[in-house]
Amino acid sequence: MSLQFKLSDKSTRFTESVIRGMTQLCLRHNAINLSQGTPAYQPPDVVKAAAVKAIQEGYNQYSITWGAPEFREAIAHKMTTFNCIPTDAAKNVTVTCGSTEGMLSALLAIINPGDEVIIFEPFYENYGPDTIISGAKPVYVALQETQTADGVMRFTYDTSELQNAFSANTKAIIVNTPNNPLGKVFTQDELQQIADLCCEHDCIAVTDEIYEHMIYDDKAHISIGSLSQMRDRTVTVSGLSKTYSMTGWRLGYVVAPEVLTDAIRKMHDFLTVGAPHPLQRAGVVALNLPPSYYQELVDKYNKNRKRLVNTLREAGFRCHPPEAAYYIMTDISDFGFSDDTAFANWLVKEIGVGGVPGSSFYSRPHLGKTKFRFMFSMADDVLVEAGERLMKIKSKI
Ligand code: PLP
Repeated sequence: MSLQFKLSDKSTRFTESVIRGMTQLCLRHNAINLSQGTPAYQPPDVVKAAAVKAIQEGYNQYSITWGAPEFREAIAHKMTTFNCIPTDAAKNVTVTCGSTEGMLSALLAIINPGDEVIIFEPFYENYGPDTIISGAKPVYVALQETQTADGVMRFTYDTSELQNAFSANTKAIIVNTPNNPLGKVFTQDELQQIADLCCEHDCIAVTDEIYEHMIYDDKAHISIGSLSQMRDRTVTVSGLSKTYSMTGWRLGYVVAPEVLTDAIRKMHDFLTVGAPHPLQRAGVVALNLPPSYYQELVDKYNKNRKRLVNTLREAGFRCHPPEAAYYIMTDISDFGFSDDTAFANWLVKEIGVGGVPGSSFYSRPHLGKTKFRFMFSMADDVLVEAGERLMKIKSKI
């Protein structure tokens, strides 16, 4: 006799990650997987050695639930100097199991039933489930490709659409800069406008800045929490996964005003107790790497960015070089497929390359039907091989 359990309503309101599904498909067909955003690189040796040393020296039990003191100090220093947000390690920092848990703990700490959260779309796929789990009502604002006065194509929002998204029920707006999947860097003007709306409607900006160190062409990363009127109403979420190529270490953090931090720490404690203690010790070494580390990181990614943009254009995709992160959002209209999912399946099976159907980044899937995302955190030889395969598209359609 099979047991029949009624699952929670929440668990039935979102599906498994589309990106993980694409990864499985790539494995089945031996395709090059340019869908999942896992770094191709390794953490620096000195950081790995610090983790081994911490384990050998006995840092193998829980740390303080909201983070080992020396790791919080290193985060506070980085936030104060790099992000220009004055941060007190004792009052403002919560170390979490990746920024993924940081975002959820933050939302659980501030959301009440009926609260609305504004989300720009296309969005990082976790934000949808995050709002369902925390009980927020998502309100979406589209980021659309627009030509600027100097002829450059950029993704931005329509100001009146953003203004209209705010209501008496708005509790927070999620700002992901640099953005996944678009590689967009929010400008000072955009952040100022969002800040003004947050103040006018008395709501909180929850920002995800995990790609803050991967920005190209001399663009600058600005944290909305550094704008003076946002000090008391910003929750900044970030982590070490991408900058130090350590997605498996699960080190993230949330920086927020003291009153919000108290609530976030409670959520975090009962969700996960704490991030891995010995890895937090090694995280201190990572956060103290010299400026040359960050320059080399950007140079490495920039080389990949240029290579893949050129390859994709030659293969028939329409795309612009992203401003940041390691994703390229392309337009696939010229290939004549009925939709992006059909294209995704065909590309894996016939060409041997995987990417992500654009519609999976939208609450309104039709907005992404002609879009397709590739990632470029890959070893040189893999990108070359992917390029050779993609060049066969034209002859096969
Ligand atoms: N935020 C964004 C925008 C991401 O793209 C990702 C991973 O792809 C994450 C958060 C996850 O970060 P973490 O490993 O710190 O949980």
